[in-house]
Amino acid sequence: MCALAPRNGSPRTPAPVDAALTPIGNADLHPRRYAARMTFKQRVLKLAAAAGLAAAARRATRRRLRILCYHGAWVTPGYAFGDCTFIAPEQFEARMERLKRSGLPVLPLGEAVERLGDGSLPDAAVVLTIDDGWVSTFTHMLPVLESLGLPATLYATTWYAGRDLPVLNVAIDYLRQAAGRFDIDPAAKTAEIEALPAEQRLAALRRFGAELGVDEAWLERRQFNIMSAAEFAEAQRRGLDIQLHTHRHIEIDRQVDALPRELAENRAFLAAAIGERDFAHFCHPSGTNHPRARALLAANGIRSATLVTEGLNGPGADPLALRRFLDGRRVGDAEFDAYLSGLLHCVQPFRRLAFG
Ligand SMILES: [Zn+2]
Repeated sequence: MCALAPRNGSPRTPAPVDAALTPIGNADLHPRRYAARMTFKQRVLKLAAAAGLAAAARRATRRRLRILCYHGAWVTPGYAFGDCTFIAPEQFEARMERLKRSGLPVLPLGEAVERLGDGSLPDAAVVLTIDDGWVSTFTHMLPVLESLGLPATLYATTWYAGRDLPVLNVAIDYLRQAAGRFDIDPAAKTAEIEALPAEQRLAALRRFGAELGVDEAWLERRQFNIMSAAEFAEAQRRGLDIQLHTHRHIEIDRQVDALPRELAENRAFLAAAIGERDFAHFCHPSGTNHPRARALLAANGIRSATLVTEGLNGPGADPLALRRFLDGRRVGDAEFDAYLSGLLHCVQPFRRLAFG
């Protein structure tokens, strides 16, 4: 989920379908009302867990596979942008430690998909997935995974990889928000810069940031850059399983015919970067989908595909429509625990009623 779709052959803005790009302070609710609702939700979930419901939920959902979803880490000082797209490194580390302490089995994605299919999954198994391939995933998340010995899959989108160019639509949205310039239409600005030759876009982006008076720490820290081929290769050597996310982060609902070509280009880039591997796992960019996508994925050798739809995956779940839990800055520990225990799944019918 995420960020980068093509137009006229060049990558650009991903639709923020998955709320990953919903910024703090720009939600539907007033921040104080939102915070109050979140506090209420955390309290209810904590009370339910304390009443023993979490243990009961875990037993009831033990055969269902849990899949956690992350993106990058926020490493730029000042304005904190991108709720679920960028989590604070300390929060990511605390979450991974919490997962480790839970004692739940964390499996590599390929093994989990296979064992979900043949019914041999261990109880309450968990898979870790990370979307896009942001540089901060390499610099700030991979070391945490390594130190805790947690397996994870990175779904890499590759058009921006190795280019000295931040992901435009995400960087533009950050700049306008950091400057408090909500009057600027980010889609129009993105289209304006994308109309330029690729080699002129970075200068145009920097001019835009300078006009808004935003410090360039975001650029120096490669906040909005995708990992290079060499970084993908090193990440893979250090244990990260690297899989597919389309070359240009296309919006499948609007560009389903481009899917086979996008998979081929994505595979070719990764094969050149890290060597030929079994690239058979896919993540729908921005959670977008299309009725024809499933058949196209299957015909192109994809054995599993994840969505951003929240949920667990029981025996018999479609491996090409796996549900996940999108973790982020606004997600409290109680909600994170409730997903892992299965409590969130069990209270699903009541959630809208209770939490709005
Ligand atoms: Zn994505």
